[in-house]
Amino acid sequence: MSIQENINVIKKDVPKNVILVAVSKTKPELDILEAYQTGQRIFGENKVQEMCAKHASLPKDIHWHMIGHLQRNKIKYMASFVSLIHGVDSFKTLKEIDKQAKKHDRIIPCLLQAKIAVEDTKFGLHFDEIEYIIKSEELKNLKNIKISGLMGMASFTQNTDQIKAEFTTLKHFFDKLKTKNNLDNVTLKILSIGMSGDYKIAMDCGSTMVRVGSAIFGNRNY
Ligand SMILES: *Cc1c(COP(=O)(O)O)cnc(C)c1O
Repeated sequence: MSIQENINVIKKDVPKNVILVAVSKTKPELDILEAYQTGQRIFGENKVQEMCAKHASLPKDIHWHMIGHLQRNKIKYMASFVSLIHGVDSFKTLKEIDKQAKKHDRIIPCLLQAKIAVEDTKFGLHFDEIEYIIKSEELKNLKNIKISGLMGMASFTQNTDQIKAEFTTLKHFFDKLKTKNNLDNVTLKILSIGMSGDYKIAMDCGSTMVRVGSAIFGNRNY
Protein backbone atom coordinates (compact mmCIF):
# COMPACT_ATOMS: atom_id res chain seq x y z
CA MET A 1 0.00 0.00 0.00
CA SER A 2 1.08 3.58 -0.58
CA ILE A 3 1.92 5.99 2.22
CA GLN A 4 -1.39 7.76 1.62
CA GLU A 5 -3.34 4.53 1.85
CA ASN A 6 -1.49 3.51 5.01
CA ILE A 7 -2.11 6.81 6.70
CA ASN A 8 -5.79 6.86 5.75
CA VAL A 9 -6.25 3.37 7.20
CA ILE A 10 -4.56 4.40 10.46
CA LYS A 11 -6.53 7.64 10.70
CA LYS A 12 -9.73 5.61 10.61
CA ASP A 13 -8.50 3.67 13.67
CA VAL A 14 -7.43 6.74 15.61
CA PRO A 15 -10.29 8.62 17.29
CA LYS A 16 -10.51 12.43 17.29
CA ASN A 17 -9.19 12.73 20.83
CA VAL A 18 -5.95 10.88 20.01
CA ILE A 19 -3.21 12.76 18.16
CA LEU A 20 -1.31 10.93 15.45
CA VAL A 21 2.40 11.67 15.15
CA ALA A 22 3.75 10.37 11.82
CA VAL A 23 7.27 9.21 12.61
CA SER A 24 9.32 10.09 9.54
CA LYS A 25 12.85 9.46 10.87
CA THR A 26 15.27 8.26 8.13
CA LYS A 27 12.57 8.79 5.48
CA PRO A 28 13.04 11.18 2.54
CA GLU A 29 11.22 14.48 2.21
CA LEU A 30 9.10 13.19 -0.67
CA ASP A 31 7.61 10.57 1.65
CA ILE A 32 6.77 13.27 4.18
CA LEU A 33 5.12 15.35 1.46
CA GLU A 34 3.03 12.36 0.46
CA ALA A 35 1.74 12.05 4.02
CA TYR A 36 1.32 15.84 4.16
CA GLN A 37 -1.03 15.64 1.19
CA THR A 38 -3.49 13.62 3.30
CA GLY A 39 -3.67 16.49 5.78
CA GLN A 40 -1.14 15.11 8.25
CA ARG A 41 0.74 17.97 9.90
CA ILE A 42 2.57 16.42 12.85
CA PHE A 43 5.80 14.57 12.15
CA GLY A 44 8.24 12.97 14.56
CA GLU A 45 12.00 12.71 14.18
CA ASN A 46 14.68 11.30 16.44
CA LYS A 47 17.79 13.12 15.21
CA VAL A 48 18.10 16.88 15.67
CA GLN A 49 20.16 17.51 12.51
CA GLU A 50 17.78 15.53 10.34
CA MET A 51 14.76 17.31 11.81
CA CYS A 52 16.38 20.74 11.25
CA ALA A 53 17.15 19.94 7.62
CA LYS A 54 13.62 18.75 6.98
CA HIS A 55 12.14 21.73 8.80
CA ALA A 56 14.18 24.07 6.60
CA SER A 57 12.93 22.67 3.31
CA LEU A 58 9.42 21.39 4.01
CA PRO A 59 6.18 23.41 4.43
CA LYS A 60 6.18 25.73 7.41
CA ASP A 61 2.85 24.57 8.82
CA ILE A 62 4.36 21.22 9.81
CA HIS A 63 4.64 20.67 13.56
CA TRP A 64 7.90 18.91 14.38
CA HIS A 65 8.11 16.60 17.37
CA MET A 66 11.45 15.39 18.72
CA ILE A 67 10.90 11.82 19.87
CA GLY A 68 14.48 10.56 20.23
CA HIS A 69 16.94 10.54 23.05
CA LEU A 70 18.22 14.08 23.50
CA GLN A 71 21.78 15.26 23.47
CA ARG A 72 21.83 18.46 25.47
CA ASN A 73 24.32 20.21 23.19
CA LYS A 74 21.92 19.86 20.22
CA ILE A 75 18.85 21.42 21.81
CA LYS A 76 19.88 24.88 20.63
CA TYR A 77 19.48 23.91 16.97
CA MET A 78 15.79 23.07 17.26
CA ALA A 79 14.71 25.49 19.99
CA SER A 80 13.31 28.04 17.54
CA PHE A 81 10.75 25.68 16.03
CA VAL A 82 10.28 22.30 17.76
CA SER A 83 6.66 21.97 18.88
CA LEU A 84 6.95 19.09 21.37
CA ILE A 85 9.90 17.23 22.89
CA HIS A 86 8.86 13.70 23.94
CA GLY A 87 11.94 12.13 25.44
CA VAL A 88 12.97 14.33 28.34
CA ASP A 89 14.58 12.19 30.99
CA SER A 90 16.54 14.50 33.27
CA PHE A 91 16.19 17.79 35.08
CA LYS A 92 19.43 18.95 33.45
CA THR A 93 17.85 18.50 30.03
CA LEU A 94 14.76 20.46 31.09
CA LYS A 95 17.03 23.29 32.22
CA GLU A 96 18.85 23.36 28.91
CA ILE A 97 15.56 23.35 26.96
CA ASP A 98 14.37 26.25 29.14
CA LYS A 99 17.57 28.19 28.49
CA GLN A 100 17.38 27.73 24.72
CA ALA A 101 13.63 28.42 24.57
CA LYS A 102 14.18 31.68 26.41
CA LYS A 103 16.56 32.89 23.69
CA HIS A 104 13.67 32.58 21.24
CA ASP A 105 11.11 33.95 23.64
CA ARG A 106 9.16 30.68 23.47
CA ILE A 107 7.66 28.17 25.82
CA ILE A 108 8.56 24.65 24.64
CA PRO A 109 6.15 21.87 25.66
CA CYS A 110 7.93 18.75 26.94
CA LEU A 111 6.97 15.22 27.92
CA LEU A 112 8.84 13.35 30.62
CA GLN A 113 9.85 9.90 29.45
CA ALA A 114 8.88 7.17 31.88
CA LYS A 115 10.70 3.87 32.04
CA ILE A 116 8.10 1.13 31.72
CA ALA A 117 9.89 -1.54 29.65
CA VAL A 118 11.84 -4.40 31.18
CA GLU A 119 14.90 -3.89 28.98
CA ASP A 120 17.73 -1.76 30.40
CA THR A 121 18.39 -0.21 27.03
CA LYS A 122 15.30 1.97 27.10
CA PHE A 123 15.88 5.46 28.41
CA GLY A 124 13.53 6.99 30.86
CA LEU A 125 12.77 8.05 34.38
CA HIS A 126 11.43 5.95 37.21
CA PHE A 127 8.06 7.06 38.57
CA ASP A 128 9.58 8.42 41.79
CA GLU A 129 12.02 10.52 39.76
CA ILE A 130 9.13 11.95 37.72
CA GLU A 131 7.27 12.82 40.91
CA TYR A 132 10.37 14.43 42.29
CA ILE A 133 10.81 16.63 39.21
CA ILE A 134 7.14 17.62 39.12
CA LYS A 135 7.14 18.62 42.76
CA SER A 136 10.52 20.34 42.82
CA GLU A 137 10.69 24.00 43.71
CA GLU A 138 13.35 24.46 41.05
CA LEU A 139 10.88 23.60 38.31
CA LYS A 140 8.97 26.80 39.07
CA ASN A 141 11.93 28.80 37.82
CA LEU A 142 11.81 27.25 34.37
CA LYS A 143 9.43 29.72 32.78
CA ASN A 144 10.18 28.74 29.19
CA ILE A 145 9.22 25.10 29.35
CA LYS A 146 5.91 23.44 30.03
CA ILE A 147 5.53 19.82 31.11
CA SER A 148 2.57 18.68 29.05
CA GLY A 149 2.53 15.00 29.91
CA LEU A 150 4.36 11.71 29.85
CA MET A 151 5.82 9.44 27.19
CA GLY A 152 6.63 5.76 27.37
CA MET A 153 7.75 2.81 25.28
CA ALA A 154 6.63 -0.71 26.07
CA SER A 155 8.96 -3.69 26.06
CA PHE A 156 10.00 -5.09 22.70
CA THR A 157 7.90 -8.26 22.88
CA GLN A 158 5.07 -10.09 21.13
CA ASN A 159 3.41 -10.63 24.50
CA THR A 160 0.44 -8.30 24.28
CA ASP A 161 -0.54 -8.91 27.91
CA GLN A 162 2.80 -7.57 29.03
CA ILE A 163 2.55 -4.54 26.74
CA LYS A 164 -0.95 -3.88 28.06
CA ALA A 165 0.24 -4.19 31.66
CA GLU A 166 3.07 -1.72 31.08
CA PHE A 167 0.81 0.85 29.39
CA THR A 168 -1.84 0.45 32.08
CA THR A 169 0.71 0.99 34.83
CA LEU A 170 1.80 4.21 33.16
CA LYS A 171 -1.79 5.36 32.64
CA HIS A 172 -2.56 4.87 36.34
CA PHE A 173 0.54 6.78 37.32
CA PHE A 174 -0.38 9.56 34.86
CA ASP A 175 -3.87 9.86 36.35
CA LYS A 176 -2.49 9.94 39.88
CA LEU A 177 0.05 12.60 38.96
CA LYS A 178 -2.63 14.77 37.35
CA THR A 179 -4.42 15.13 40.66
CA LYS A 180 -1.25 16.20 42.44
CA ASN A 181 0.41 18.87 40.40
CA ASN A 182 -0.25 22.51 41.01
CA LEU A 183 2.60 24.28 39.29
CA ASP A 184 1.91 26.80 36.51
CA ASN A 185 4.25 25.09 34.09
CA VAL A 186 2.86 21.59 34.54
CA THR A 187 -0.31 20.69 32.62
CA LEU A 188 -0.54 16.95 32.26
CA LYS A 189 -2.71 16.42 29.19
CA ILE A 190 -0.68 14.20 26.90
CA LEU A 191 0.04 10.51 27.36
CA SER A 192 2.31 9.58 24.44
CA ILE A 193 2.21 5.79 24.15
CA GLY A 194 1.85 3.48 21.16
CA MET A 195 3.91 2.77 18.04
CA SER A 196 3.20 0.81 14.84
CA GLY A 197 3.08 -2.55 16.60
CA ASP A 198 1.12 -1.54 19.67
CA TYR A 199 -0.83 1.67 19.05
CA LYS A 200 -4.19 -0.08 19.23
CA ILE A 201 -3.32 -1.56 22.62
CA ALA A 202 -2.05 1.84 23.71
CA MET A 203 -5.30 3.54 22.69
CA ASP A 204 -7.27 0.96 24.67
CA CYS A 205 -5.05 1.82 27.63
CA GLY A 206 -5.72 5.57 27.46
CA SER A 207 -3.15 6.92 25.02
CA THR A 208 -3.78 10.49 23.85
CA MET A 209 -0.92 10.52 21.34
CA VAL A 210 0.47 7.70 19.20
CA ARG A 211 3.80 7.75 17.38
CA VAL A 212 3.51 5.66 14.23
CA GLY A 213 6.40 5.20 11.79
CA SER A 214 6.78 1.97 9.85
CA ALA A 215 3.04 1.31 9.55
CA ILE A 216 2.85 4.56 7.54
CA PHE A 217 6.19 4.83 5.76
CA GLY A 218 7.25 1.18 5.56
CA ASN A 219 10.21 -0.47 7.21
CA ARG A 220 13.34 1.51 7.87
CA ASN A 221 16.64 0.13 6.71
CA TYR A 222 19.23 1.52 9.05
C1 LIG B 1 10.98 5.06 15.81
C2 LIG B 1 10.12 5.44 16.93
C3 LIG B 1 8.72 5.31 16.85
C4 LIG B 1 7.99 4.72 15.66
O1 LIG B 1 8.27 3.36 15.55
P1 LIG B 1 7.44 2.40 14.54
O2 LIG B 1 7.56 1.08 15.19
O3 LIG B 1 8.15 2.50 13.25
O4 LIG B 1 6.07 2.91 14.49
C5 LIG B 1 7.96 5.73 17.92
N1 LIG B 1 8.54 6.25 19.02
C6 LIG B 1 9.87 6.38 19.14
C7 LIG B 1 10.43 6.97 20.38
C8 LIG B 1 10.71 5.98 18.10
O5 LIG B 1 12.03 6.13 18.23
